[in-house]
Amino acid sequence: MAQKAQKYFMPKPPAIVFDLGKVLVDFDYGINARRLAAHSRCSADEIRHALDQSALLHRYESGQLTTAAFFDEMRAAIGYTGGFAEFCRIFGDIFTAIEPMIDLHARLRVADFSTYIFSNTNELAIRHIRENFPFFAGFDDFIFSFEHGAMKPELKLYEVVEQRTGRRGAELLYIDDRQENIATARPRGWQTILHETPEKTRAALRTLGLEV
Ligand SMILES: [Mg+2]
Repeated sequence: MAQKAQKYFMPKPPAIVFDLGKVLVDFDYGINARRLAAHSRCSADEIRHALDQSALLHRYESGQLTTAAFFDEMRAAIGYTGGFAEFCRIFGDIFTAIEPMIDLHARLRVADFSTYIFSNTNELAIRHIRENFPFFAGFDDFIFSFEHGAMKPELKLYEVVEQRTGRRGAELLYIDDRQENIATARPRGWQTILHETPEKTRAALRTLGLEV
């Protein structure tokens, strides 16, 4: 009897955890840098340098700065003369959809997979994405660095994912384009895909037995 029951046992399908930047949406700090430069004493190149992978952005995305405090520091750093509301509108508008991955996510939802967003990001970016990218409403939950005081690849944020999903180990399948982010997940037993192209990620999903 036990053997017969075992025949019908199916392992729980994994929850799929998506990184956001360079996986579901592309981004370019050159876009907001050019627009901010029109109201600043700095050039677009200098502003991009002040933003992309900077210590200031790290403090904002790890929740050490509110959006208002980040605005104050940016205003001082680049000599921005525009208002707060305009800064907020410009700052988050740097994203373009990666359609094959958004389509892949939609097919995973149709196939009844639980899906999550796990991102190093900030309030203005998320506000912009929520307002402009309808696919973003289709996830079970969202784990954003700025809401938890930690950034990938810090272990603490991966523990938040396990708490929020109620899953651990191989019950999680994590897709991220950065090797260092994947490297924290692997020793915890998560299944991982280092995202390079939509085609390769689809092939990796098929290899793991997920045909969508
Ligand atoms: Mg990424």
